[in-house]
Amino acid sequence: MRILIADDSIVSRHLLDATLRKWGYEVVVACDGNEAWQILQSPDAPKMAILDWVMPGMTGPEVCRKVRENASEEGFYTYLLLLSSRSQREDLIEGMESGADDYLTKPFDQHELKVRLGPALRIIGLQHELISAREALRDQATKDFLTRVWNRSYILDTLQRELRRGSREKRPVGVVLADLDHFKTVNDTYGHFAGDAVLLEFVRRTGASVRPYDSIGRYGGEEFLIVLPGCDEEMTRNHAERMREALAREPMSFNEESRVITCSFGATAWLPGTPLEEERLIRIADDALYRAKRAGRNCVKFVSSVDAGAPGESGKPVGAVSGTQSGRQASGE
Ligand code: GH3
Ligand code: MG
Ligand code: MG
Repeated sequence: MRILIADDSIVSRHLLDATLRKWGYEVVVACDGNEAWQILQSPDAPKMAILDWVMPGMTGPEVCRKVRENASEEGFYTYLLLLSSRSQREDLIEGMESGADDYLTKPFDQHELKVRLGPALRIIGLQHELISAREALRDQATKDFLTRVWNRSYILDTLQRELRRGSREKRPVGVVLADLDHFKTVNDTYGHFAGDAVLLEFVRRTGASVRPYDSIGRYGGEEFLIVLPGCDEEMTRNHAERMREALAREPMSFNEESRVITCSFGATAWLPGTPLEEERLIRIADDALYRAKRAGRNCVKFVSSVDAGAPGESGKPVGAVSGTQSGRQASGE
């Protein structure tokens, strides 16, 4: 555990430093209030601070107030202990009101300081557990259990968010639906666990072929939705083609056997100035995916959201279609 000590007196600082180190703490030292505040703001700040009251720059209570004012709901709690030669009741009240968790008078009694650090550690520990539990819950609510990519509801939220952002910033958004080819035969031939491994490998390969700010989510069983912010029609088609290539390029091994697993892609792009209708975009991508399956799988079909309108092959309204197709097909085609 790291503790920040802030004191302008060299003697107090050394005494406190030596005492805390003797008890096994790691110590970070500040010589005045401003330095203490800077350290407490840094990304990897100590979670506990022992602050002198009177210091140049900011006083101890001022540092406490600033820490509490700037605390975020997401962040860790900073346990603050004020150390002061002021021993009046009013001083204690004023100190605690500034946001300190505890108050100790100087010269401090070593034993008393030691026992007061006990509750501080318990509070920091509990807070850590709380944050971990909250993160685990958030993870459960937003991620797919098997593949750890975004789940269906979160990727749909992402699409909505990116479309709104695209509209504000006048930037297009690519939308791609991917569906593994003949995935049922993978399960039937090699078993469900091998099928799961294929889904994980699909995510690994496609994840490596997209940009860090693209999002991949599991839309259904072996179907994935990919959101590509800033991608116009051509860029979206190219990205989808790169993902297709990343999967089909190398076979996957199943015990002794190896087999090329392929995927079909339906792509479209939202363009600035056109209506923000995410459901329609997904329908268009879905229709493009249907066309990719019909065209023999292991290919990308792109349908422009601008031309969309006439009934498509799947009976839904879509528009002009274009695509690429590789000669390499999964066995079982
Ligand atoms: P197509 O090329 O037309 O897409 O054929 P397909 O066999 O991929 O499609 P189909 O919809 O017939 O089968 C999808 C299979 O995906 C059926 C289902 O058991 C399997 N599946 C869905 N979710 C999972 C999963 O989490 N793990 C495994 N192993 N299989 C899954
Ligand atoms: Mg499939
Ligand atoms: Mg499917």
